[in-house]
Amino acid sequence: MKVLKFGGTSVGSAENMKRVSQIVEDEEPRFVVLSAVSGTTNDLVAICTCLYANDKEGARKIIEKFNFRYDELIEGLYDSEEYKIKGREHYSAFVDLLNGIVDSDFSEKEEKVVLAQGEVLSTKLFTTKLEEEGKDVMLLDSLEFMRLTSESEPDLEFSKLELDAILTRHSGVDLFIAQGYICRNSKGEIDNLQRGGSDYSASLLAEAIDASELQIWTDIDGMHYNDPRIVEHTKSIPKLSYEEAGELAYFGAKILHPYCLLPTRRKNIPVRVKNTMDPSAIGTYISEDTSEFGIKAVAAKDGIIVIKIKSTRMLLAYGFLKRIFEVFEKYETSVDVITTSEVAVSLTIDNGKSLNKIVDELEIYGEVHVEKDQCIISVVGNFIADEKGTASVIFDSLREIPLRMISFGGSKHNVTLLVNAKHKKEALNALNDSLFSNK
Ligand code: ADP
Ligand code: ASP
Ligand code: MG
Repeated sequence: MKVLKFGGTSVGSAENMKRVSQIVEDEEPRFVVLSAVSGTTNDLVAICTCLYANDKEGARKIIEKFNFRYDELIEGLYDSEEYKIKGREHYSAFVDLLNGIVDSDFSEKEEKVVLAQGEVLSTKLFTTKLEEEGKDVMLLDSLEFMRLTSESEPDLEFSKLELDAILTRHSGVDLFIAQGYICRNSKGEIDNLQRGGSDYSASLLAEAIDASELQIWTDIDGMHYNDPRIVEHTKSIPKLSYEEAGELAYFGAKILHPYCLLPTRRKNIPVRVKNTMDPSAIGTYISEDTSEFGIKAVAAKDGIIVIKIKSTRMLLAYGFLKRIFEVFEKYETSVDVITTSEVAVSLTIDNGKSLNKIVDELEIYGEVHVEKDQCIISVVGNFIADEKGTASVIFDSLREIPLRMISFGGSKHNVTLLVNAKHKKEALNALNDSLFSNK
């Protein structure tokens, strides 16, 4: 069975939903995972922000704004009045639930319920469209098989068991639809896999059912060798290894959720990134194949904080780094890039939630400096056969830009640099000119 995931733009209009309905027509059994209609989750987040501020009027106004968008979608999506009525019923249930939450007490629990509604609605609307077309389709509830452990990690064993039972029970069905992004937490409450998490849902599902392939259908023709939001005329990369694509996703290529490739890589399931608006474009094929050498792509991730701990006394003493990392572990904050010298260690984090507490504890070990608004630039490729050339080309192209940290050698797949966020655009363009101008 293949798993196909369609993102927000892919289900963002009647026209695009109809494209998706054609793409999922296939001989092979398919498991289709959908995001919310584009913009919906952002609006649901805005509703929650209003409700936390007790601004019920503000929340109601945002809910009202859904009307126009979904009216147009429902009118354009279904051919017959009978199915338009069904579509409107799905939409009314969505609005009624949101209005009910506006009128009651609001806490984190209700917030998670609100955030889940985008995917609940998009999957109902799409399934009803397929039913109108006479397709044999089954809508599943991801809350029944996607669950987080008490450590907030996906509970894969649970998903495997539940999905196995569901697929056995419905062995005659060839086309399943389910919501991306949403799950339950270990207390049984509704939760989610963080923004952009539908990619991760699809990949976890692919692992759980041992899929033959995962397809991520989006609004661009595959993974590009540079960030198309920042650099002009970028092109897609036909093939990448799991390591390369995983680094790009983790270090800022928004096209894939940072953890999306972990599950498929564990099971060696190939991933295709495809364009819903142009299905014939070849896209990007991601697999364990690492036979292509050289620099493949760059990505940038901003919102990075650098913490430098300076200690003339202790740095190289046995156990010093361990104690430092224990502070980050205690506050559940992961460290991305690290560089050391004889007297100092610099490291980066992207989550500043516990920054003050972390700094307070680190001050026991030395002088601590914090710099915000930094950006990680990651140059990704397969450098195994290229021991000499890689670094010099990269540094030469960035000679005008102050580099705050440099990390190379952690793997053969990336060179990681840290620059102030104000230099991000310049750095990505400079790297583009020197690395990809012949592409
Ligand atoms: P979806 O809603 O389908 O999940 P996203 O908006 O999350 O889509 O991801 C697709 C977007 O990712 C593209 O439109 C593009 O602007 C952005 N993007 C960032 N970096 C890259 C990259 N290296 N290659 C392709 N797209 C990228
Ligand atoms: N709808 C969610 C979001 O916008 C999840 C996703 O689209 O992947 O973040
Ligand atoms: Mg996405």
